[in-house]
Order: sequence, then C-alpha cells, then structure tokens
Amino acid sequence: MFKLPTLPYAKTALAPFLNEEQMTFHYEKHHKAYIDNLNKFLDTDASLKGKSLEEIILSSTGGIFNNAAQIWNHTFYWFGMNTANNSTKPSEKLLSAIVKDFGSLDALKAKFVEEGVKTFGSGWVWLCADKNDKLVVVSTSNAQVPFTNSGPRPLLTADVWEHAYYVDYRNLRLKYLETFWSHINWNFVSENYSSTSVKSLHAAHI
Ligand code: MN
Repeated sequence: MFKLPTLPYAKTALAPFLNEEQMTFHYEKHHKAYIDNLNKFLDTDASLKGKSLEEIILSSTGGIFNNAAQIWNHTFYWFGMNTANNSTKPSEKLLSAIVKDFGSLDALKAKFVEEGVKTFGSGWVWLCADKNDKLVVVSTSNAQVPFTNSGPRPLLTADVWEHAYYVDYRNLRLKYLETFWSHINWNFVSENYSSTSVKSLHAAHI
C-alpha cells in the first residue's frame, strides 16, 4: 500500500504563491487520486508486491506507470518548494555547475520558465543532472519522469498540468512559473545534485 506523503509544510504556507484552495485540490484530490488508483492495482497485481515506487515506475507501463509516476512527480514537486521567498541558496558546488552550464542563476531561471511555458498540454519541467553531473533542463509529457531509459536524475520539478495552477493563476502559466522560481527549496535541490542516484521517495510507501 502507498499513502499520501505528508507535506513538508502547512497547506496554507505557500500562500499567496499557492493559496489554500489550489493546494487542497492539488494535494488532497489529484495527488491522492493517484495513490488510491495505484493501491487498487496493488490489490490485484501480485507482480507489484514489495516493489518500491521507483521499481514500479521502471518496470511498468500504462495505468500502473501513470499513477506510480504521478505519485513520484508530485511528492518530488512538494519537496522542491519552500515557504519563504528566496530563503535558501544553491550550494557552492551546485552554483558553480549552474554558472558553468547555463551562465548564471538568472539564465537557468529563464531556460526553466521558457521550457515550462512551451510544454504543450500536460507535463512537467525539470532541472536534472546527467551521469557526468552536467545540468540540463528538460520537459516531460503527462506522467513521464526523466529517469527512465537511463535518463538524467531529477533535481527540481514544476508541475505544468493546468490543475497545478488554474485555481490561482487561470491560464497564466508564465506567471505561475516565475513565482515558483522564488519559492525553491535550494537545500533539497543541492542535496539531489550531491547524490549520485535518483531520489528515493520511500516516504510514500507503507
Ligand atoms: Mn499535479
């Protein structure tokens, strides 16, 4: 069984970036629905028994993949955000890599926001590191994660499904992403950069 992971902050703590109604629908309805759906598959598919969330993602397709990957993506998204504007900074190691690979932190922001805005339909925009620790900004469609097929490990993600911002921002995805950028938990991003493997989100597993 999987359970809805506890948010690392109060549901109201990201306001006015994300207000309580936006958070309630996204976390308690959308994220929870993916958990409930995956648990239904667990009830009927013995091959899923005992597997971690990441193992399920890497070995499944169709509805099982979609729900498992969306649990992973949302959990990772919540942990990448910070309640206080700009209160954390990238580690020295991460900042050097950002300057080397993008030119500056502002240039990375511009690239991340641009990639998120141009993602067609539902998906996710990511800052990732490849096996040589080179930083890349990528987007994925629907439930896709970057790390299948030996792809890069995620450091940070923003949800660009309309359900992620429509309550607070209506159609203004650009404004949502620009505001997202001032609420990043850089400690989380820096830890993911220092790690050599994809973040394990076992917290969602009971
Ligand atoms: Mn979402």
